[in-house]
Amino acid sequence: MGTTTKPRVIQPARRTAEIKYAVRDIVVLADEAKAAGKQMMYLNIGDPNLFDFKTPQHIIDATHEAMCRNDTGYSPSSGIPEAIAAVEREAKRKGIESINHVFITSGASEAIELAMTALVNAGENVLTPSPGYPLYTAVISKLEAENRPYYLDEENGWQPDVEDMRAKIDENTRAIVLINPNNPTGSVCSDETLRAIIDLAIEHNLVLFSDEIYDKLLYDTGKSASTSTASLSTEAKIITFNGLSKSYLVPGFRIGWGVVSGPPEELEEYCEAIRKMERARVCANHPEQYAITAALEGDQSHLTDMIQRLERRRDICMERINAIEGLSCVNPGGAFYCFPKVDLNVSDTEFVTRIIRETGVIIVPGSGFGQRPGTEHFRVVFLPQEEVLEQAFQNIERIAQSYR
Ligand code: PLP
Repeated sequence: MGTTTKPRVIQPARRTAEIKYAVRDIVVLADEAKAAGKQMMYLNIGDPNLFDFKTPQHIIDATHEAMCRNDTGYSPSSGIPEAIAAVEREAKRKGIESINHVFITSGASEAIELAMTALVNAGENVLTPSPGYPLYTAVISKLEAENRPYYLDEENGWQPDVEDMRAKIDENTRAIVLINPNNPTGSVCSDETLRAIIDLAIEHNLVLFSDEIYDKLLYDTGKSASTSTASLSTEAKIITFNGLSKSYLVPGFRIGWGVVSGPPEELEEYCEAIRKMERARVCANHPEQYAITAALEGDQSHLTDMIQRLERRRDICMERINAIEGLSCVNPGGAFYCFPKVDLNVSDTEFVTRIIRETGVIIVPGSGFGQRPGTEHFRVVFLPQEEVLEQAFQNIERIAQSYR
C-alpha cells in the first residue's frame, strides 16, 4: 500500500486520442437538452428500427428456429457454411467473380476491422472518403496508421475526386476505401468513376475496400441494387463489405460479411492473415447467421415498401432544405442521409449545437464525417415519418433565419 494520497491516474493509450464518432458523441448534448425539458427529435442515427420500419417476420423466424434447435454454441470462425454459401451466391448475382474468401462477422463493422488489421502496418496509410463514415478513421487510428482523406466533389454530385485520390497515394499507401452508396451524402458512384478508381488501385497495387452496405437502398433508378465495384474487375484486389443491418432491418443482430475477390495467387497470404484474425476473435453471433439465407433469398417485398416510404421522406427533406435561405443539398440517390451545405457564416458545430439546444432536433455536424476546409454541413437522417421531418425542418429553418 502506498502512503501517497495523490490519485494515480491511469493514462489511456494514445491511439484512442483521435477516435471520434460524432453520430453518438452528439448524444451528450442531446441528453442535456432532454434534461432541460426539450421534446427530442432523433435525426442522428441510421437505425431504421427506431422508426416505423420493422424486421420482416421470416428473418426473425429463421433465427428463432436456430435457437430452438440449440444452434447457440460457437460457430466456425469464418461463419456457418450455409451462410457463406448464401453470401457467395448473392455476390455472384451481383456479378462478382473470382471470389477467394467469404467471412461472416459481427456486423460489416467487424469485417472492416479484421480486413484492415490484417493489411495495414503502423505508419502506413489508407485513403478514405471525405465526407465518409467515421468507423474507418477510428480503425486506422487504432492501428497507428495514417488516415488520408480524399475528397468527394460536392459540385459533381459528391462523386469521388479521382485526381485528388491519385495525388494522395504514395509508397506507404495500402488501400483505398470506397463507400457506395455513401454515408453521409447518399451519393451513388457512376460506373465510370468506379472504373477509374479500379484502374488506380491496380496501377498502385492497392486493396480496394468497397463498402456496399446501402446497395439496395436506391432511389430514382428503378435498379434493385447499385453496381458492385468488384463486378467490374477480376484483376483488382477488392474486399466488398455488406450486411443485414440496413436493407434487412436488423442492425441489432450484428451480422455482416466481407467478400475477397481478385487474382487468387496475389491474395493467398492476405486471406490467410484474415483467417487468423477471424480465429483469434472466435466467431460471429451464431443463431443470427441463419438469418442470412432467409434475408438474401427469402421474400424481398419489405424493400419495395421501404424504398417507397424513404423516397417520399427524402423528397420532403430536399424540398424543405432547398427552400431555406443559406442551405442547399445535393439530392441523395441512395442510403437514408442528406448532407446539406450551410452558407450562413456560422460553423457547423455552432449551428448544430444551437439546433439541438434550442429545438431538440438532433443532427450531426459535417466535421464528424470530414468536409473541405471552409465549407460547413450537417447530416440529417430521413428515416422518421413525414410529420416529424416537417416539424424538424420548421425548427431548423427558424434557427437558420436567425443568422440572416
Ligand atoms: N458502413 C457504413 C457506410 C455504415 O454507414 C455503417 C453503419 O451505419 C456500417 C458500415 C456498419 O454496419 P454494421 O451495422 O453492419 O456494422
